[in-house]
Amino acid sequence: MELSDRARAVLDEARRAGDADVAWKEGRVFSLAYYAGPEVEQVAERAHAMYTSANGLNAEAFPSLKRFQAEVVATVTDWVRGDSQAAGYMTSGGTESILMAVKAARERGRRERGIVTPNAILPESAHAAFEKACYYFGVEARRIPVRPDWRADVNAMSDACDDDTVLLVGSAPQYPQGVIDPIPEIAAIAARRGVNCHVDACMGGVTLAFMERAGESVAPWNLAVPGVTSISVDLHKYGYTAKGASVIVHRNRLLRSYQTFVTDNWLGGLYGSSGVLGTKSGGPMAAAWAVMRFLGEEGYLALTRSAREACLRLADGVDAIDGLVVRARPDSTLVSFGAADADRPVDVYAVADGLAARGWYVDRQGPPPSLHCTVNASHAATVDDFLVDLRSVVADVAASDRRGDAGAYGTVD
Ligand SMILES: *Cc1c(COP(=O)(O)O)cnc(C)c1O
Repeated sequence: MELSDRARAVLDEARRAGDADVAWKEGRVFSLAYYAGPEVEQVAERAHAMYTSANGLNAEAFPSLKRFQAEVVATVTDWVRGDSQAAGYMTSGGTESILMAVKAARERGRRERGIVTPNAILPESAHAAFEKACYYFGVEARRIPVRPDWRADVNAMSDACDDDTVLLVGSAPQYPQGVIDPIPEIAAIAARRGVNCHVDACMGGVTLAFMERAGESVAPWNLAVPGVTSISVDLHKYGYTAKGASVIVHRNRLLRSYQTFVTDNWLGGLYGSSGVLGTKSGGPMAAAWAVMRFLGEEGYLALTRSAREACLRLADGVDAIDGLVVRARPDSTLVSFGAADADRPVDVYAVADGLAARGWYVDRQGPPPSLHCTVNASHAATVDDFLVDLRSVVADVAASDRRGDAGAYGTVD
């Protein structure tokens, strides 16, 4: 329809509000946003717009959303090698998938074993969302230091288990250093104890599935591993769809039943929901379905190849810069790096400041103080320019002894 002047003015103001946002479509932002080009973006935005106000709370009223969820979950189940018993749901993101994994594990422990003071065994590298989930759901988070190669220390995890343990976690890959935990060993401990093992493949789920299809060898990471009971895969990362889309797949329907919430203890009748949200926009569900349908296996294969190639080029380039070391060879598309051992190690947060001044955005993290790049397909064209600037910024910072600020992955306002 033709918009009024007033409507156009409001929309212009909304657009201008974003002028100071990071420029994530130009391949200069190594965090927070993912870009597969203008056509994929259009497919996502238009499908999203069609279902923005449709409500995923009741799929019976919206057979469209029921279909989108069923087809998206089926595709992801195939990617993570679930069998015909597997059952999942779409969620609003990695955090909600993880919240539900922890809730399902707590519920299983409560119902099957009467556990009232549950604990979860988490490598220190497991995402902050597990900390949030444990806090929300009254589960003790037992953090176990990782090995020198940054992977989960399976023996220490085993030692930390007791009769109240309801969950062991491994990540594929873990966010901070980008390596895959020893999933078969972690899952074996869980299976022996009859408790849940969740694999956090929020970041790696799409990429690892297509690295395998591209012929790369990938450490075991999915439901093909005995003992893994659930796995999370974010679509709003390497699925290249609109924000608000992730999937959690459980090994079977019984395990999934511990995720859902049902009550009739109020005056409004029977109420059931699969996740944290009540009313839930159909937009992200429709966008995910449309983008996955549009890209298909071939699209994801091509995007995975270019992101992976760009990531390895970035890791090799960083390692070749005097004063920097890569924390680990990337198992998927995440690179973390810090200061090389030296009398006066370069302050990597000052390096991040210098990069920001040249229009590049990288994540700051620690311990240990490190910079982190989440490399997606849009970086294939920019990695070489980034390396040129990184080399020169490191030299500047080393010469000036500048210090920077550690920043934060998420924020509170
Ligand atoms: C992004 C991420 C999460 C959290 O997902 P959100 O979509 O930010 O809620 C969890 N685990 C890993 C490994 C991640 O990369």
